[in-house]
Amino acid sequence: MTFEPLASDFYGYENLLTDQEREALTRLRDYLAAEVKPIVNEHWENATFPHEIVKGLADRGVYSFAWEETKPFENSAVFRGFVALELARVDASVATLVGVQNGLAMGAISVTGSAEQRAEWLPKMARGEVVGAFGLTEPQSGSDSAQGLRTIATRDGDEWVLNGSKRWIGNATFSDITVIWAKDAADGR
Ligand SMILES: Cc1cc2nc3c(=O)[nH]c(=O)nc-3n(C[C@H](O)[C@H](O)[C@H](O)COP(=O)(O)OP(=O)(O)OC[C@H]3O[C@@H](n4cnc5c(N)ncnc54)[C@H](O)[C@@H]3O)c2cc1C
Repeated sequence: MTFEPLASDFYGYENLLTDQEREALTRLRDYLAAEVKPIVNEHWENATFPHEIVKGLADRGVYSFAWEETKPFENSAVFRGFVALELARVDASVATLVGVQNGLAMGAISVTGSAEQRAEWLPKMARGEVVGAFGLTEPQSGSDSAQGLRTIATRDGDEWVLNGSKRWIGNATFSDITVIWAKDAADGR
């Protein structure tokens, strides 16, 4: 397996990658060229989503690399940047699927979740069995979400009741688990 450097990598960042990282990128690039590139334009035209690639991407490790619970080998942030680059080079929407699943949804669970929540969700999401979404942005708040969030969470026994609206939520139309950001009605936090 030979990793072909990209002509656009002007500063030769690929020199910072290990052989194992190059091998993983080659597997991903080959999969994207064979299975994703030939079908994405038609999906774009029809406003549909190629659900079959969720698992195919998981098998190339794209949702696994960043998390202690799931990473197949030690890897660098530069390598994970290259993974994002390879995805976006083929299709920006496929890169969004992975960015939301891996970065936003799994990232939120990894950073803010309990040990039980991490153990339950991260491996399933890494295998592509569960698709995640992340709902922060609202019709009236984007960059200012920390102060401007209007969605309210009210405690009702063992459950939280959510009230509000969200916008721009990648994967939301087919996600299995969605991390929703809301303010606690009791204390406004
Ligand atoms: C393809 C796509 C996918 C997305 N997926 C998700 C998702 O999965 N989950 C989710 O929660 N959100 C998602 N978003 C929303 C995204 O995170 C927001 O668009 C972003 O937070 C910016 O908010 P906004 O669009 O309301 O812009 P605004 O916050 O209204 O910003 C408008 C403009 O004002 C500028 N601006 C804002 N504040 C300041 C300031 N204090 N000083 C100077 N300039 C400022 C901004 O740079 C920008 O140019 C997605 C957006 C896109 C386009």
